[in-house]
Amino acid sequence: MTAQIIDGTAIAEAVRQEVAVGAAQLKKEHNLSPGLVTVLVGENPASKAYVSSKQKACEELGMHSLGHKLPANAAQEEVEGLVRQLNADPTVHGILVQLPLPEHLNEETILGAISLEKDVDGFHPLNIGRLSMKGREPWFVPCTPAGCIELLVRSGIKIEGAEAVVLGRSNIVGLPVSMLLLHRNATVTICHSRSRDLPGICRRADILIAAVGRTEMVKGDWVKPGAAVIDVGINQKWMAHPADKEWTCAATGETFIAHRADQSDKGSRRKVGVYCGDCDKAYLKDHVPDDCQNCKPTELFRKYALVGDVDFDEVREVAGYLTPVPGGVGPMTIAMLMQNTLRGAKHALGLV
Ligand code: NAP
Repeated sequence: MTAQIIDGTAIAEAVRQEVAVGAAQLKKEHNLSPGLVTVLVGENPASKAYVSSKQKACEELGMHSLGHKLPANAAQEEVEGLVRQLNADPTVHGILVQLPLPEHLNEETILGAISLEKDVDGFHPLNIGRLSMKGREPWFVPCTPAGCIELLVRSGIKIEGAEAVVLGRSNIVGLPVSMLLLHRNATVTICHSRSRDLPGICRRADILIAAVGRTEMVKGDWVKPGAAVIDVGINQKWMAHPADKEWTCAATGETFIAHRADQSDKGSRRKVGVYCGDCDKAYLKDHVPDDCQNCKPTELFRKYALVGDVDFDEVREVAGYLTPVPGGVGPMTIAMLMQNTLRGAKHALGLV
């Protein structure tokens, strides 16, 4: 069997179009634009990129967005104060505090300060609590888990009665997606790092959701023939380059694989070190001595690819449905955030 590949990019686009139509309707009928505010604390480059892509998505769909940036050493009270101010602002329908927060901040208290009706990330303890209780509905469902369910539903995969196995129990993905599957009447098994016989448990699954952050951990023989496999993982896998060779860092003595910049083709690559021709020495990138900075050393790179928690090539031969990485769950996360923001605006108008 060769799995049907679930096109997350196309499904996310369909969700985005629906949101754009909904936003235009609110504007026309109520003169209201849904508004999302992001709060970024510190300079984490990945967080900065996530925040700007969320703001861009808002603009593309006719919603307004505003970004608040606080310094990495912002005090707990400062962040909570900003959240309270946004709670009280009627033009704001969704508040997103970008995670992870710097270590000194209490994430639980900050997320708990967000008004339930504006908690578009769905991480408020009450939203998570409602998600975990029978017969209760959260105001908002966390975006990545909601995206996984949307992929299953829009691909026509029956959840009710299915045996579902979720690999991972994080607050962000594993736990909420398990609860969503339970709400839809699947029989759910949650696995984690202490679970025994993962391959055996996974082989029982009609629906397998992998959210462990372990490169290509799920192999073909872990999967029941015909199962639907949703791969949430985003991992960096080093790839070979014809010009790769082994270098030894003159500062630490560690060996590392890399190729020179001038030998690198295009594609995803990461700078891992430098080679200084003047000194005839190589260094890992964080160990270049100050007195070498004027030598104009050559950069050393290593190629990588983004892969999931599922061994795509093996599993596609066994599964009935499979999401790729990239292009599966990833694009759904922002699409669901946009959907949540629209819902927040509709709630402000008393429409939901
Ligand atoms: P996380 O907080 O690190 O949680 C990982 C979970 O996997 C934990 O429950 C852990 O068990 C379990 N685990 C780790 N190694 C395991 C192993 N060898 N066997 C069994 N279970 C194992 O990660 P996360 O935030 O949930 O993210 C998971 C993956 O999804 C990451 O690759 C992340 O980048 C990706 N992700 C993607 C999106 C998206 O938009 N596509 C969004 C969020 C996350 P314990 O609880 O016992 O430690």
